[in-house]
Amino acid sequence: MTRFVLATGNPGKLREMRRLLPGYDVAPQSDFTRERVDETGLTFVENAILKARHASGASGLPAVADDSGLEVDALDGAPGILSARYAGKHADDRENVARLLRELEGFSGRSARFRCVIVVLRHPSDPAPLICDGAWEGEIARAPRGDNGFGYDPVFMVPELGVTAAELSADEKNARSHRGQALTALKRGLRSKPIPGHP
Ligand code: IMP
Repeated sequence: MTRFVLATGNPGKLREMRRLLPGYDVAPQSDFTRERVDETGLTFVENAILKARHASGASGLPAVADDSGLEVDALDGAPGILSARYAGKHADDRENVARLLRELEGFSGRSARFRCVIVVLRHPSDPAPLICDGAWEGEIARAPRGDNGFGYDPVFMVPELGVTAAELSADEKNARSHRGQALTALKRGLRSKPIPGHP
């Protein structure tokens, strides 16, 4: 069975990946290193590749990494790659959402999308990573609503449903979300470009 390392410390992402790819032996990065890489890229793709390269180098295994965030048109794409730390280095979800609503005061156009990029590197110097992505279109609500999910979900309106992402169940969200789309593309991509060693 092919083994790869998942470049995350997030147990939820590890569970999700193991469920999605039953034919693979998925190891968490924490089995090999506690060190985290600086996310110095300017794009989701660059940061995902930095994380995967780091995990592959530390483990000697092929690596999968993701990067995601919210892109708001009226703010020229912010918070973008800074989504997790929009209100400061140690900001929590509530503070990030509060800053977003403040920045959008006075704007009528509130279109936005979540983006997720997942990359696979077969080894640290792989010159041709598998790159999978997903985008979920929506609008930023004027106030938070709903208790599910995380991050910006309470202010991410899904226009065709008239609810926020935080008012969807996990299954309803996964069926349409940026991450759900990227994971589906990953599964397809691994079939057409297998990691060496996979049956
Ligand atoms: P990361 O890719 O796990 O580092 O996530 C980056 C940040 O983007 C998160 O901390 C959230 O603030 C935001 N984000 C990414 N995906 C979602 C989502 O599905 N819902 C809400 N916020 C998200």
